This record gives sequence, C-alpha cells and structure tokens, in this order.
Amino acid sequence: MQVAETVDEHPAVLVTGGAGYIGSHAALALLDAGRRVIVLDNLVTGFRRAVPEVAVFVEGDIADDALVRALLAEHGVGAIMHFAGSVVVAESVENPLKYYDNNTARSRSLIASALAGGVRHFIFSSTAAVYGVPSDEPVDESWPTRPANPYGTSKLMTETMLRDAAAAHGFNYGALRYFNVAGADPAGRAGQSTQGATNLIKAAVEVATGKRDSLAIFGDDWPTPDGTGVRDYIHVSDLVAAHIALLDRLEVETATSHVLNSGYGRGVSVREVIAAVERASGKPLPCHVAPRRPGDIAQMVANSDALGATIDWRPRFADLDAIVAHALHWERTIGAQLAD
Ligand code: UDP
Repeated sequence: MQVAETVDEHPAVLVTGGAGYIGSHAALALLDAGRRVIVLDNLVTGFRRAVPEVAVFVEGDIADDALVRALLAEHGVGAIMHFAGSVVVAESVENPLKYYDNNTARSRSLIASALAGGVRHFIFSSTAAVYGVPSDEPVDESWPTRPANPYGTSKLMTETMLRDAAAAHGFNYGALRYFNVAGADPAGRAGQSTQGATNLIKAAVEVATGKRDSLAIFGDDWPTPDGTGVRDYIHVSDLVAAHIALLDRLEVETATSHVLNSGYGRGVSVREVIAAVERASGKPLPCHVAPRRPGDIAQMVANSDALGATIDWRPRFADLDAIVAHALHWERTIGAQLAD
C-alpha cells in the first residue's frame, strides 16, 4: 500500500535569539500563526523564561556549526529568523570586534549552515543604523548606507553577505531595518527584560516604576520642534507581524529578496514619549536635561512605504500611547519577576 506523503505546508522556523526581546515576541507570533518554532539562544543576554513553552528550545550558539546543522535536519527547518546578536551602539564603539564577531562572523556561520541544511528562506534583523547619515526627511531604502558606528557596520555586512549568498545559492531573504522598537505583547506574555537597557521607552518605564530615579533627556537643543531627539517608534508586535507576513511572501515568491525599513513613518520626540508615560502612569515622570549622548543624531524617521507595498501588513498599534502602556504594563508585572 502506498502511503501518502505528508506535505508540511509550513516547515519549522528556527528563531535565533528567541529568548531575547524581539525574538521572544517573534516566537510567540509564529506559534500564534500555527508554525513550529525552534528557538536557538545562548542565553548570554536572553532569558530562558522568555521562550514560549511550546517552542523547542536549544541552548547554544549560532556559530556552533555541528549543533545548528543537526537541529536544522532534525526539525526539518525551512526558514530562519535571525535575531541573535549584540545591540548596544555605544558598546560597539568601545568593543568593535565583539560586534564584528557576534553580528557578522557568527552570522556568516549561520548562513553557511543554512545553505548546507537546505534552508530556503532567511529573515534578518537589520537596523536603521545602517544609514548613519542623519536626515530631516523620512529615509527610504535608497538612502546611502554609511553606518556611523560598528554596530551599524556589523549589521550592514551581514545584509551584504545575505545579498551575495542569495544571488549565488538560490535562497531568498528579507532584511528588516528596524527603527526604534518598543512596547510589549499586548496580552502581557512577553516584553523587554534587557538589563541596563539604554532605549528611551524602556528607560522611561523603569523610571515610572521606580527602578531608576530620573530620566536623562539627552539634549534639548536639537534642531527639532521641541529641541529633543525625534525617532520612529514601532510596536514590537507590529514588527514581528511584519516578519511573519514577510516570511509568507518569501515562501510564495521564492526568487525575490527584500530589504525593507520597519517603522511607521512618524516622528516622536523625547518629550512626547515622556508625556505619554505620564498619561499611562497618571503621575509626573522625574526627568532632567543631560548633555547630548556621543554619536546621537537629531532625527531618524522611516519612510516605510516599501514595507506596506511589499507585504500584507496592517499595523495594529501605531499609537504611542499603546506602545507606552504595553511597555509599562510589562515593567510593572512580569518584567519585575524576570529581572531577578
Ligand atoms: N534618549 C534620552 N534618554 C534616554 C535614552 C534615550 O533622551 O535615557 C533619547 C536619545 O537621545 C534619542 C532617543 O531618546 O534622541 C532614542 O534613543 P534610543 O537610545 O532609544 O534609540 P536610538 O538613539 O538608538 O535611536
């Protein structure tokens, strides 16, 4: 008797860095979409408890070729979402080789393992830091890539490897250039637990919950409407939804790759973030003006028209109050438990 072959419409997805902030949200969203998820994380900055229980969890390094190749084969991985890496810009200036190792060299190993294992689709966490050159206008993907720090360069080098490897070896990829990712899972299942985070919204909700005394406003004399820095904050759940829609796209149009900005195309100042935190918490937020942070720029806002035109994506939380409320909720509840 002939046994009908089971066709798995959706092969498993390997999520590197799935115990980290964005990776853990991606793992949840993939599971919500009915995907099988394998999380690979070395737990250097991630938290085991952040990995959804139903995901397969493997503790290890993306550059451990034997481990990665074995798990690709064992679980029938068809796609990789690659979040693992180091993310602190200032640290990348002080210790560039760490960034070229973690973000570039180890990504090269992962890409090689993906090729060896026949993985067809690859989605990479890139960054607006690849642009480097500040702009008063929203930047689109044709804006020059001249990273101003090793973090941006380390990510751009991985984009370049993916471009060239995809051209040579017949897989496709998406590189999403994240603008400022913030917020937490609206259902409270995940959030940002990073220790000593330097991001504005995370720092602000830590002040609101008494974990820090006061928020430093890094400069109020920038050439922006209220003098404080302007960024394009995207809700983490909208961001991971974009990854899933992009994966759907890569699976259908297998010859095409995409490099896409991920933001809402809307600038928000530090003072607007502070006002939103005060609305969410119902009390004034202690803050003080401090000198500009080295390497900071006045404004960075995405033109993300290409993202909307490429994938089936309708942002659900393109609202600063929602982003801040979710971040604050996480900080008050589960964040406190994870931080121990
Ligand atoms: N910022 C601030 N205080 C903080 C953290 C950030 O005033 O404690 C400002 C920073 O100068 C920038 C904006 O908030 O204008 C976003 O900074 P973040 O570090 O979150 O992101 P990035 O600078 O990488 O865009």
